[in-house]
Amino acid sequence: MQPKYIFMTGGVVSSLGKGLATASIGALLENRGLKISILKLDPYINVDPGTMNPFQHGEVYVTDDGAETDLDLGHYERFTHAKLTRKNNVTTGKIYDSVIQKERRGEYLGKTVQVIPHITDEIKSAILKVSKGVDLVMVEIGGTVGDIESLPFLEAIRQFKYDVGSQNVIYIHLTLVPFIHAAGEIKTKPTQHSVQKLREIGIQPDILLCRTQSDLSQDIKSKIAMFCNLDPDSVFTARDVSNIYEVPIALHEQGVDEKIAERLNIWTRQPDLVEWKQLIENIRHPVKEVNIAIVGKYVELTESYKSLNEALRHGGYAQRIQVNLKFFDSEKLNQKKLSKAFSEVDGILVPGGFGDRGIQGKIDAIQYARENQIPFFGICLGMQLACVEFARNVCGLAEANSREFDETCQVSLIDLMEEQKKFTHKGATMRLGAYPCTLEKNTLAQKVYQEREISERHRHRYEFNNAYRETLAEKGLVFSGLSPDKLLVEIIEYPSHPFFIACQFHPEFKSRPMYPHPIFSHFVESCALFQQKNLWKDQKKNSKNEAPQSTQSEPKNKN
Ligand code: GLN
Repeated sequence: MQPKYIFMTGGVVSSLGKGLATASIGALLENRGLKISILKLDPYINVDPGTMNPFQHGEVYVTDDGAETDLDLGHYERFTHAKLTRKNNVTTGKIYDSVIQKERRGEYLGKTVQVIPHITDEIKSAILKVSKGVDLVMVEIGGTVGDIESLPFLEAIRQFKYDVGSQNVIYIHLTLVPFIHAAGEIKTKPTQHSVQKLREIGIQPDILLCRTQSDLSQDIKSKIAMFCNLDPDSVFTARDVSNIYEVPIALHEQGVDEKIAERLNIWTRQPDLVEWKQLIENIRHPVKEVNIAIVGKYVELTESYKSLNEALRHGGYAQRIQVNLKFFDSEKLNQKKLSKAFSEVDGILVPGGFGDRGIQGKIDAIQYARENQIPFFGICLGMQLACVEFARNVCGLAEANSREFDETCQVSLIDLMEEQKKFTHKGATMRLGAYPCTLEKNTLAQKVYQEREISERHRHRYEFNNAYRETLAEKGLVFSGLSPDKLLVEIIEYPSHPFFIACQFHPEFKSRPMYPHPIFSHFVESCALFQQKNLWKDQKKNSKNEAPQSTQSEPKNKN
């Protein structure tokens, strides 16, 4: 069957939420009964974002098949059921890499290799690769219209309409309609210019999504429609919402999905949004709040922890617990002042990370959580450091470290496996993607997952060094999740603590708003319990403090 295509472009400025808009439209159309696929085309030259600094790019999202991808793929997976693989994120680097390899193999038969048609053909073939077996393909073009780098992508999607038939393609443009305070007016000019730029390239948008602070009046929509050469019914407001999961409903209420179905001439049922509405209810009306400390390095740019932040919030939604994230820069944590820093937190999480900066602060935070019975959750580097902390402070192995931070360390508790030592290139050579893990009986891990065999996504180079397994186990650390051959440590826990668990994989990549990841929901639940216990303790303390006063005042009153 010939699939339909929606191409999503963005104009005026970046960060308008094109990824979220794409994911939300995907959710609506999937809900109407269509099988969808989503592709992100990124104009940068890196082959994938895996080698980029998180401060530059934000989170690197990992798919089951081990692709290191743009964080928008995280939105797509959280909002839809689309099955995403390495084919669903293509960069300029990947396109050129493949064209140059073909050229070296002599596949262009003596022709001059050019942007048009060779690069554009390669882009179009990337789109066709994700089109098999689905009703609809959504393609999001990264960057903003007008960028030099995105031109080959825009040219490819312009041509695509003529390859598959104009009845099978629509273009949606996300643009900004700002309110200028000095003039007291909404301004449509940036949108007009951005659409002009698109039309210069030969793309006439079919639908405009206008990011604004408040709903646009019919007059403004008509003005935009006239200048941008479309009908006023095709201009929609993408107004700011307080929570990202409100976007699908906000778009549906305006009829965006209906319009798309009409323009693509597809017969679909009305979407059933009961689950989405229930989710919004839970988010809007929490019965409790917990504060969770994230002790990391990339705290200035919280986009670096995108999936993690979402997974923590998901962990609270079904229980109607609002999760407040408190970011702590581990480099600035002062060991002597931890009780002050963490006085208001109900749980501590140490996320993944690379490099030795801020390591000691993370180890101190883990020690503080362990010794003060504060719920603790470590992810990837967080697990490695939880082992280092335990080895140093409980097992007396003062020299324990990870080979990542000290190449000559004597007690390399965390080390490179033989396989990793062979790699000379950094790109795409980590342990990446889904790996199976077997959970030990009668452990917190098994209680949390309610099963013995699980599969989780990885992105790391170093592993726990089995030479030290026994030493740590003797002091009470439990290795509760192992690879099926038992050689790789996947989960550790410390049963002499109310909730102390850490994993080598990244569970945050598999959490969904309606299907929270079990470790996250149990962690949030234990944070709420910790808070409750502390409240009781405080109440007890207060009533004890009050008691002598009342006995003192009693005789006085009697006198
Ligand atoms: N830097 C560590 C490693 O490569 C941990 C990676 C991570 O936290 N994702 O093993």
